[in-house]
Amino acid sequence: MNHKVLIFSAPSGAGKSTIVSYLLKRFPQLEFSISATSRAPRGEEINGKEYYFLSKDEFMQKVKENAFFEWEEVYSGSYYGTLQSELERIWEKGNTVVFDIDVNGGLNIKRKLGSRACSIFIMPPSIEELRKRLTLRNTDTPEAIEKRIAKAEQEIACHDKFDIVIVNDDLETACKQAEQVVRNFISRAE
Ligand code: ADP
Ligand code: 5GP
Repeated sequence: MNHKVLIFSAPSGAGKSTIVSYLLKRFPQLEFSISATSRAPRGEEINGKEYYFLSKDEFMQKVKENAFFEWEEVYSGSYYGTLQSELERIWEKGNTVVFDIDVNGGLNIKRKLGSRACSIFIMPPSIEELRKRLTLRNTDTPEAIEKRIAKAEQEIACHDKFDIVIVNDDLETACKQAEQVVRNFISRAE
């Protein structure tokens, strides 16, 4: 049974969702791990697609029930976590799990799964470029953007704890690099 996972972590705005969606289109054996979150849906997000959207109470109830493989208060007041049932759902199909997860969550999962996991850090070219991308994405308030930027420096300081670092300056180059990493990882024995 395939129990492999690919972990993508980066400061918010570095481009990991963009790179992950590129990879999901190219590799049918990869499946996105849909996290649960207590934050509100933004833009076109749909419950059960990007996230399972829960109220804070529902989220905490699942914490109590030990339903999470991992969870974090990623931004103050906003909880995110991976449900154990989500991993089982994907592994049962023989697929490789793909995580888009914050840096702490990514490092925790790598610690738990060791060589079954490949952890990839997506590095933004600079903090200024990160701010520019978050602003252009136009999905967060200026306050939310500043919260994300404030966290970015401390996340970037952890990049050397990841198996692979990909700088997302030119998007096409970064996607091609990520594609090669995935190809190597999925062809490797568990
Ligand atoms: P994350 O998932 O890391 O928060 P996104 O994938 O949502 O980041 O990317 C943030 C924004 O930056 C999006 O609007 C995306 O289209 C844009 N973007 C991603 N990669 C690049 C790049 N290499 N150059 C310029 N803009 C990019
Ligand atoms: P966003 O609000 O931009 O969708 O996500 C905010 C941050 O939470 C991102 O860094 C994202 O990768 C992270 N995140 C998403 N799902 C999870 C999860 O299940 N666990 C943890 N620890 N972080 C997550």
